[in-house]
This record gives sequence, C-alpha cells and structure tokens, in this order.
Amino acid sequence: MNPLQRPNAPAPQRVSVVVVGAGPAGLTVGNILRRAGVDCVVLETETREFIEQRPRAGVIEEWAVRALEQRGLGENLLQKAQRHTACEFRFDGRQHRFSYSELTGRHHYVYPQPLLVTDLVREYADVRGGDIRFGVRDVQVHDVDTDRPSVSYTCLRSGQRQVLHCDFVAGCDGARGVTRRSLPDDEFRVARYDYGIGWLSLLAEAPPSSDCVLFGIHEDGFAGQMPRSPEVTRYYLQCPPGDDPANWSHERVWAELRRRLAAEGAPELVEGRLIEKRMLDMHDYVVEPMASGRLFLAGDAAHLVAPIAAKGMNLALHDAFLLGDALVAHLTQDASSDSAGRDSGLQGYSEACLRRVWDYQEFSQWLSDVYHGSAAGEPFRTGTTLARLRRLFTSRAAAVAFAEQYLGTAERY
Ligand SMILES: Cc1cc2nc3c(=O)[nH]c(=O)nc-3n(C[C@H](O)[C@H](O)[C@H](O)COP(=O)(O)OP(=O)(O)OC[C@H]3O[C@@H](n4cnc5c(N)ncnc54)[C@H](O)[C@@H]3O)c2cc1C
Repeated sequence: MNPLQRPNAPAPQRVSVVVVGAGPAGLTVGNILRRAGVDCVVLETETREFIEQRPRAGVIEEWAVRALEQRGLGENLLQKAQRHTACEFRFDGRQHRFSYSELTGRHHYVYPQPLLVTDLVREYADVRGGDIRFGVRDVQVHDVDTDRPSVSYTCLRSGQRQVLHCDFVAGCDGARGVTRRSLPDDEFRVARYDYGIGWLSLLAEAPPSSDCVLFGIHEDGFAGQMPRSPEVTRYYLQCPPGDDPANWSHERVWAELRRRLAAEGAPELVEGRLIEKRMLDMHDYVVEPMASGRLFLAGDAAHLVAPIAAKGMNLALHDAFLLGDALVAHLTQDASSDSAGRDSGLQGYSEACLRRVWDYQEFSQWLSDVYHGSAAGEPFRTGTTLARLRRLFTSRAAAVAFAEQYLGTAERY
C-alpha cells in the first residue's frame, strides 16, 4: 500500500527540509537551518540517550572546529577539547615523534563524538527550538525527482504512519541508512574498496599511555592508541577480517598491545577494563554524485572511510557545512534575486564535497600501506614500508606533505 494513503494516518505536515539521521552530519545541517530560521524536522531511529553515548570518533580537524565555531556550535568543544600537536610512530623498536605543529603551526583537536553529538542536539532542540523526532521506524523517502518530495515514517509511540512534505531531503543517516537507496539506480555509482584486513576496535577505561596518538608498525600487525579523555582511551589491533571479538580475551588484548607498541624507553601501557570490543572490517565506499533531484546525501550516507586516518567525521562535518549553507542560501534568498548565486551552492554541492572525499580516501589508502605493510609477510613490502616511514623523519618536504594531509589543511581540494 502506498504509505501516503494509509487510512487513519495523521494529516501530513509541511516543512522546508527533512533531515534523516541525527549524527554529526544531520545535527549540523539542522543547526545551520534553525539558525537561519528555516523550518525543518530531524528524524532519528535511536533515542536521544543512545546517540549521546554512542562512542566512535575523537579526532577533529582544526578547520572543522573553526567552522563549527563560526556557526555558533563550537563553544563547549573549544573549552573542553584537548589540543594535539604531535603523533608518534613506533617501529624498529624505537619511538619516532612527529611534531606536526612545529612543522605547520596547526594542530588537531580531540573531542569524543558523543560529546559533540550531545552539544549539537542540545543546541538544536533545547536552544534553537528545533523539531527532532527520536525512535522513528521504517523511514521512506518519496518523489525526490519532483519538486514535492516527502518522507514518511512510523512513530514508535503511536504506531501511526506520519508524512512530512518538504522542499528538500537531507540524507544524513549514516552507512546503514535508507536515503542512499532512494537514489535512482541509473543515476549514481558506488565505488568500493576493501582493505582485506580487520581491526579490533577497543575502548579501555584507562588513561592514555602517551600524550599523543600512537601508531605501532609491527610485523605481527598494526596497533594504535588514540587518547579520548583522561579516563578513556581507544586502541586498535589489526587482525584477520571477520575475526570474532570473543577470541580476544582481556589478557590477549593487553599482551598484544604491549608487544606491538613496545619501544625503547616508552612508558608501560596503562591497562584498564575494556568497555567496547568490536570488529571493523576495513572498507571504504564513495557514492557519486551525492545528490539527485531534491535529495542530498551527507556524511557516511554518501561515503565511508575506514578509521585509518580519523577522517570520517571530519568529512561528515564538511558536507554538512556546505549543504546547510547551500540550503539556507536557496531557501532564504528572494527567488527574484540573482538565481545563479541562490542555487550555485546546491548545484555544486556534490562536486565540492567529493574533491575532499577523494583526497582523504587516497591518504587513508597510503597510510594503510604504512600501517599494515610490515605485517603482510612480504619482505619487499616491509622494505618499502620502512622506507616511507624513514622518509618522514629525514625529508622536510615529505614531512610537510604528510602533515598537510594528516591535518586536512590543503589550501584547495
Ligand atoms: C571506531 C571508530 C572510530 C572513528 N574515529 C574517527 C575519528 O577519530 N575521526 C573522524 O573524523 N571519524 C572517525 N570515525 C568515523 C565517524 O564516526 C563517522 O564518520 C561519523 O559518525 C559520520 O557521521 P554521520 O552523521 O555521517 O553518520 P552517523 O554518525 O552514523 O549518524 C547517522 C545517524 O542516522 C541514524 N539513522 C540510521 N538509519 C536511519 C534511518 N533509516 N532513519 C533515521 N535515522 C537513521 C543513526 O542512528 C545515526 O544516529 C570513526 C568511526 C569508528 C567506527
């Protein structure tokens, strides 16, 4: 049955924009729209409590923090986030500190994703009075190829089907969302890349063992440490794809981390209870173009980048800034005014996003070779991996180029 015609359904509502998904991308778009006085509804399948606690990213690039600040969304972050100025590679049994701030004057911020999501929900719903509906079910997008699209969903509490008519749909529902599937098959392509490796992703109730991000390059596999807060630290361990987290006991995890991150003079790892242990099959994808008709995708809904270089949330924010600003320009400027200026943001949206997306994907592939090359069991790859690493510490030009990609500071993409 056409969900728009179900009997006893509440009367359809009309808003300018329906944002599907309340992750960093959707909440940022929602906040930009609310600040400009554009009416919108954000739909989210999970509860508010759940999204405010879901642990994932931590590293946010400086340009993204500035862009949040410019939109009135960075106050808490700037007060509480840690500033990181260096990362450390461990190979050949030694510590090799890479001080990217000394090279470039730029830094990274570390602010756990749940804190950012909490700030964004509070600002959107409690401060800017935005409409956000949690626990929605069976979201469907309709008629995006017309100028009267709509989104329908089932309300968890009433069980009733609700329809929202709108001018635009922002598809910000992440890697497992539904909006991507609403793009017409013959109008877009999905480019995929599979690294053929797994990462055991861990969160430990323990302070970081170093003040910076650690990359352990080891013949038995990569190990990484990403500080999140004084109490919680994220660790990664390379393992075969599809491995079962149950194979990794507390003792095995810490023994392996200690071995792969060992280096002369390095402090002992601080152990703690493992509060998250999940397997990531490392892969990437990119949807091109990121828009069709009145549907615009943003963030993981449009592109997934394995957390090798900590880029996914940064890309999600980049899309959201472009999409939010473009929708505001279109919806708030007088239709009789310069229509090229009014529409250029939306027309150029996909291309503008994809330039940075592909750049970050390429960097993640490059860094993946560095992380995993020594563990491939091929002496040739071990040799080239170590050559790449040594170059970072012997050639200033190579170091500056790496820092630019790691920090996402290229002048143009
Ligand atoms: C272990 C790990 C570590 C990471 N570390 C980093 C890092 O340090 N730096 C970095 O930049 N990135 C990192 N990332 C990536 C980052 O977490 C994601 O790229 C980011 O969450 C993408 O934001 P998003 O808003 O596009 O999607 P999401 O955060 O996935 O949000 C999508 C939202 O849509 C909701 N949703 C799904 N389906 C529907 C539906 N049908 N209807 C309505 N709502 C729906 C979901 O519940 C979710 O709330 C990491 C990822 C992982 C897994």
